[in-house]
Amino acid sequence: MVRKKIKQSMPVLPLRDVVVYPNMVVPLFVGRAKSIQSLEEAMNNNEKTVLLITQKSADIDDPTDKDLHTIGCSASILQLLKLPDGTLKVLVEGISRSKVLSIDDNDGLLVARCEDIERSKQLPAVQEDALARTLEDTFNQYVKLNKKIPPEVLSSVAGIENLAKLSDSIAAHMTMSLDEKQKVLELASPKERVEYLVKAMQSELDVLQVEKKIRGRVKQQMEKSQREYYLNEQMKAIQKELGEIGDEPNDLDALEKKIETVGLSSEAKEKIKNEFNKFKMMSPMSAEATVVRNYIDTVLNLPWKDKTEVNSDIQHAESILEADHHGLEKIKERILEYLAVTKRVNKLKGPILCLVGPPGVGKTSLGMSIAKATNRKFIKMSLGGVRDEAEIRGHRRTYIGSMPGKVIQNLAKVKQRNPLFLLDEIDKMAMDFRGDPSSALLEVLDPEQNFAFNDHYLEVDFDLSDIMFIATANSMESIPIPLLDRMEIIRLPGYTEDEKADIAKKYLISKQFEQNGIKPKELSVTQSAIKDIIRFYTREAGVRGLDRAISKICRKVVKKILINKKSSKKISITSSNLTEYLGVKPYSYGVADKKDMVGQVNGLAWTSVGGELLRIECALMSGKGKVTQTGKLGDVMQESIKAAITVVRTRATSLGIDSKFHENKDIHIHVPEGATPKDGPSAGISMALAVASSLSNTPVRSDVAMTGEITLRGEVLEIGGLKEKLLAALRAGIKEVIIPKDNEKDLIEIPSNVKKGLKIHPVKLVDEVFTIALKNKPIKPKSIKKSSRVNNKKSKSTPKQLPH
Ligand code: ADP
Repeated sequence: MVRKKIKQSMPVLPLRDVVVYPNMVVPLFVGRAKSIQSLEEAMNNNEKTVLLITQKSADIDDPTDKDLHTIGCSASILQLLKLPDGTLKVLVEGISRSKVLSIDDNDGLLVARCEDIERSKQLPAVQEDALARTLEDTFNQYVKLNKKIPPEVLSSVAGIENLAKLSDSIAAHMTMSLDEKQKVLELASPKERVEYLVKAMQSELDVLQVEKKIRGRVKQQMEKSQREYYLNEQMKAIQKELGEIGDEPNDLDALEKKIETVGLSSEAKEKIKNEFNKFKMMSPMSAEATVVRNYIDTVLNLPWKDKTEVNSDIQHAESILEADHHGLEKIKERILEYLAVTKRVNKLKGPILCLVGPPGVGKTSLGMSIAKATNRKFIKMSLGGVRDEAEIRGHRRTYIGSMPGKVIQNLAKVKQRNPLFLLDEIDKMAMDFRGDPSSALLEVLDPEQNFAFNDHYLEVDFDLSDIMFIATANSMESIPIPLLDRMEIIRLPGYTEDEKADIAKKYLISKQFEQNGIKPKELSVTQSAIKDIIRFYTREAGVRGLDRAISKICRKVVKKILINKKSSKKISITSSNLTEYLGVKPYSYGVADKKDMVGQVNGLAWTSVGGELLRIECALMSGKGKVTQTGKLGDVMQESIKAAITVVRTRATSLGIDSKFHENKDIHIHVPEGATPKDGPSAGISMALAVASSLSNTPVRSDVAMTGEITLRGEVLEIGGLKEKLLAALRAGIKEVIIPKDNEKDLIEIPSNVKKGLKIHPVKLVDEVFTIALKNKPIKPKSIKKSSRVNNKKSKSTPKQLPH
């Protein structure tokens, strides 16, 4: 339809936020008085046309000609409806683009003089087709991506053949700003419009495509996490159905509550809260969540505030120690002193007690009694074989399967922050490439540091200062020096036969009766049977073997009672029926009745399990002066053999032996029980005696035992473990013992019955040893006084000439 270019006047209907194109049918709501007036005016003329002009700015209520664009669209009114609120609903159809020439305001009625915009020349059909197709294709894509345009629009647009009309209706459906829409209205040439629209759509398409990509990615992620969430929830539901887990949210609530109530330090609280927040965000079934959860649980299960009420009544402690242990007077006294001081200063800052002694002498049970007396929980922490620092201080959480160290683990177990820790076998701790556990232990024990002990796993400090530490060891030598510095040593040297018998009578028998359900009227063990058990069934410094033997008797008796139900006779264990219950005697008591032999000496050794008789043998062969040592002897012992041979050589004349023995004799020294390593200097005099006996072919008294280090000049030096050695000698049936003169002072501590049972010879020089222990007097050189046997006293008053 070609319209002529006509100038005409028309009432103006200003539009706030819409641009109307030719051929479009649009409903409009009109409320402004001026606009209503315009419409009324339009209805009065025949053609019922208005000029629709979009305002430059939608905010203006009363627009004048300056506020309106200069290009509008003439439209005919198809329908007019008055609404009850006085506004109008009007349906208009765009006719053509019109250029405003002028606008007059006739008493509020805007009337425009305008003319239709001349249409450009008809394009060639091919070009028009191409443009239409491009426009439609682009619009197709545009609608697909743009969710705001309903897809039906495509079919409504598809039927339009006229390029001008097509471009207008597409423009009407596009999402464009008002200015852009107005711009489309102002482009009179359909070709230009198509170009403008295609360009606008293209750039919009680019944006939409990126948007789509982003949306796709977000959606994918959402779907993935939704899927995981859904699966997890399902898994939980299944597990719940199977009764494997409780209600998760409640669990979390409980955990959160616990964080507030367990009394965490502020540092720990902050740390745990962080971990807890992390945990909440994790999928509960993931491996990492389990690690975090374990950590939280470990920290929360520590006794941050719970502790037992410590009983510091010294009399109470004394009565408990007395009731649980026989003898050990000095030790009990020292323990009570320790408790008294801690009560006075109200702190555990003193040195740590370390009970040193052979196995089975009651170190552990003393520790338990102290715990009982002070009302602390008891923890035994074995340090034997601990090589790795991490066993004390924990592994860092970065390691798989990491755990806190033993200290923290044990605290979690007892659930009290003030237990008594018995650090068992502190001397058996080792050190290797994994770090030094003793330095970690030092931190645990040091009162200046242990209020903020840092376990690698926990990562937060824990206060250990309420813990009472007591250590035990078999021997002091192998305790690391820095640890030794912090400890006060209390020695438990081992029991005499009488003490063992007393312990058995007063404690062990009743304990075993109770443990095996035997009534006192059913069984009795005679004094002589106890002695025999000690002598023939045990060889120990403590009472563990004795305890075991009594337990074995009790078991057998219980069986017997149950089998012979009728007989209610009391069973009595005596020396004569002991083998019936305990079997063949594994040990013989006393070796003193053995024959006196040449080159065989009773030495005395002190091992970590108590004293022992150590046989030393020496044999001679013709040879070239070679010395052989066997029996797994340590370096120090080998050196003392060399010293001993030198000492004998320098005394060759006085001993009446061939002074050239080092040229024509080979000497072999052997210490039996070869599998056990032996070391130490205290067998020096025994070695010298064995060599002297062999070379002089004089037997050694078998009822004499000895201990003492030797110097090249023949002096006898002090040794350790005198009590243990004397006990061992007595146990073995030795009658006389030679000890260094310097050890005479230690005899005060030896029980009087031991001193009564042994004749003790303190000596200064090795010559005295020869005099006492060699069966026949050595052949004396003429210069020395002629006497067949020099007695002990005499030898002391007339010391032998020392070699130069
Ligand atoms: P340790 O720790 O020194 O190796 P234990 O404490 O395990 O020794 O003692 C072993 C057994 O001997 C325990 O049953 C203990 O009660 C008992 N015992 C040791 N010494 C005495 C003692 N003096 N009085 C009573 N029982 C004792």
